[in-house]
Parts: sequence; C-alpha cells; structure tokens
Amino acid sequence: MTKRILISGASIAGPALAYWLARYGHEVTVVERAPELRRGGQAIDFRGDVHRTVLEKMGILNEIRNHETGNGPLHMIDAEGRDLVTLPASFTGGDVEILRGDLARILYDRTRDSANYAFGDSIASLTDLGDAVAVTFESGRSSVYDLVVGADGLHSNVRRLAFGPETQFVKHSGYHVAVFEAPNRLHLDRDALLYSEPNRGLALYPIAGGTSVNVMCVFKADGATVDHRDTDAQKQLIADRFHGMAWHTQPILADLWNAPYFYHDSISTVRMPTWTSGRVALLGDAGYGATCGGTGAGLAIVCAYVLAGELATNPAHQAAFTTYEQETKKLTRACQRAAAGAGPFFAPKNIHHRTLLYKTLTKGPMLNLLNKLTTKATTAITLKNYPTPTHPTLTTF
Ligand SMILES: Cc1cc2nc3c(=O)[nH]c(=O)nc-3n(C[C@H](O)[C@H](O)[C@H](O)COP(=O)(O)OP(=O)(O)OC[C@H]3O[C@@H](n4cnc5c(N)ncnc54)[C@H](O)[C@@H]3O)c2cc1C
Repeated sequence: MTKRILISGASIAGPALAYWLARYGHEVTVVERAPELRRGGQAIDFRGDVHRTVLEKMGILNEIRNHETGNGPLHMIDAEGRDLVTLPASFTGGDVEILRGDLARILYDRTRDSANYAFGDSIASLTDLGDAVAVTFESGRSSVYDLVVGADGLHSNVRRLAFGPETQFVKHSGYHVAVFEAPNRLHLDRDALLYSEPNRGLALYPIAGGTSVNVMCVFKADGATVDHRDTDAQKQLIADRFHGMAWHTQPILADLWNAPYFYHDSISTVRMPTWTSGRVALLGDAGYGATCGGTGAGLAIVCAYVLAGELATNPAHQAAFTTYEQETKKLTRACQRAAAGAGPFFAPKNIHHRTLLYKTLTKGPMLNLLNKLTTKATTAITLKNYPTPTHPTLTTF
C-alpha cells in the first residue's frame, strides 16, 4: 500500500532511502535544512560484498567508479616532510572511494524526479495521531504523513523531537574533525599526506584533478564547545588549535577563511537502545552514527536498503520497524567499533608510538589482517532479498 513518508535530511541516508521508497511506489518528501544540496566532505570508502551488492542493486556502482577519487597511499610524515610510514590505498580507500559531495549528488540525481525535495526547511513539530503523524514545518507549512524518518545526521532534529535531547544519545570521543577545500599548494598528485603533532593532525588529500586538496584537521577537543551552526566560531576554533603547528600548516590554515566549503563536528557516536518509536524511525548517523571512521556512508546506504525492504515486506509498519532494528543492530555496532580509533589515528598523544604501531601494522600479513578486520565490520549483516520494486527510476541519464 502506498504510504506518505517524510524524510528529514538530504545527505547520504535520506536520498538513499528516498530511492528505494519511491521505487516501491511510496509518496516521498525529503526536507533539508540547507538551502541546497550540501557539497563537500571527505572521501567515503565502500568495502566488501555487502556494500557492493547494495550499490549494484541501486544501479549506482558504475557511476561511483566513474567518480573515484583515485587517491594513492597516505604518507605519515615528519615536520621536514620525510616519510615515517606509508599506508596503502587499499587500507585508506577500501574497494572504491568517492567524495561525499559526489555521492550525495549521484543519490540526489537519482531521486529528484521521484521524491519531492523541500530545501531550506525543517520540521518544527511532530504529533503522533495514532494512525498518522501530523507535522509542522519552520516555514509554516503543515501536513500529515504515514511515517517520518530522521536521516538528519549526528545532531538529528527528528531524534530530538521524537526521542529526547541529544545529550542522552551522543557520546563525544574527545576529538573534533574539520574538513575544507584549499588550493593544492604542495602540488600533490595522488598521494595523501598526514602531519601530526601531539593531539592534533592535519592531512591533505588531492581532489578535483589535482587543483585542490581536502584539508582534514583532527584535534583533541579538551573541553572545546562551539555551536555546530556557527561556521565562523568553528573556523576560529580550528585556527586557534592549529596555531603554531609546524610543516606547511600555517599557509594551508590561512586558506580556511576562503574555503569553498567547510565541515566541522565532534567525533561522536550515537548510542540508542532503539531507533524507532511509533511512526518515526531514525536512519544513518541520526540513529547510530560514528562520524569520521570511514564506515558511516556505507552503513547508511545498507540500512536504507533494509528499512525500505522491510516496509515492502511487512504491511504493518511496526513489524517493519522492529525487523529493521533487529537486522541492522549487529552491523551498526560493528561499524561503530571499527570507527573508534579515528581520533588517535590522526591526532595521537604520542607520535612515536603511533609510528611504531603503523610500521608493524603495515607489514604484509598484519596489513591483510587489518584490511580483513575492517571488511568484517562492513559485512556484519546477511542481506535479505526483498521484493523487487516495480516503479522505475524516473530520472534519465
Ligand atoms: C556537508 C557535509 C560534509 C561532511 N563531511 C564529512 C567528512 O569530511 N568526514 C566525515 O567523517 N563525515 C562527514 N560528513 C558526515 C557524513 O556524511 C556521515 O557521517 C555519513 O555519510 C552518514 O550520512 P547521513 O546522511 O546519515 O548524515 P549526514 O551526512 O550528517 O547528513 C545529515 C543531513 O541532514 C541535514 N539536516 C540536519 N539538520 C536538519 C534539520 N533540522 N532538518 C532537515 N535537514 C537537516 C544536514 O544538512 C545533512 O544534509 C559530512 C556531512 C555533511 C552534510
């Protein structure tokens, strides 16, 4: 039966779910707070059979391959630019790697004709009427939906409205991450560089055919708090925390203020005993995010497939929600565990210890083991075959 479904958030999880729901014939609206599709962000890697299967089912694997970053290995370097350890591309980039912004664009292009996107708006209130959810929006509009899905990230608005304040569920790792685009001052070709000092690390990843780099700044928070919607305050925090850092950091940091895009957040994990309630479900970072660990986008895409598939299988949404949670729980926990080391990897307390550790881990058999462990996390689910969707993808390419 066709349902009216509202999704909050148009990044990765939201459009991935919109794709499946529209193909199952539902009437889908996606509301996104930003005025347009948000670009930018780090590279996202897909690894293992589960990711590949879902991307193939969505018909986007080849398109993702066409947008591969093509990044080479990551070199951990010292202040003089000398190599300390080299991490191969297979470890840092998985089987296929794409920039988050490019992936968001692909998903949006696949769904913009079959889902109704409302940019520059946000849900103001949710009222469970029993047989539907009444929704008011900040724009003043109001409507009624059968289901509402929060795919609105770490600081989820739907989670706050339906489950309670963020402080109950978001566990801060003690680190922050920022990513911005800057000119390729060091003329990097394919290889990425990571320079770290105790508790702060700055990595450069070439993008845009080598004309720009993604600058990634990771640092120990040490109590820093900043409004996640105040970009200038966030930039100032980065400037303060990386002040005085050696290597080429200072000119690179100056590019922060004119960056074409900028992303900053705490590295946090969302821990919830349940991510569905009544007619509301959470998807992706909103329900089980881990920021920055290289597994979040793949997790969101797989869980979107499961949620839509369960809704197609179970006529009653309660049963679909329950099975969605049961099916994805192990995978979400495994991905969160795999992401836990991101902060200390980029911004270790002791650089020498990290160098020694990764010298050992990048030796042949250890590297295979490390790759296997990461792939084990992203494949910690047995995918079901859900009913074949009958509605075509409307967008033509
Ligand atoms: C611009 C951007 C850059 C990113 N860069 C990185 C990065 O460099 N490294 C990294 O580890 N992770 C990054 N992320 C997070 C990463 O995309 C996610 O961890 C992962 O892909 C899971 O995606 P998601 O769709 O669940 O959540 P997210 O990608 O966080 O998307 C949530 C979406 O919800 C929207 N939203 C938020 N509040 C509301 C609201 N009230 N109403 C409607 N919409 C709302 C946001 O604007 C966003 O589009 C970035 C996210 C964004 C949006």
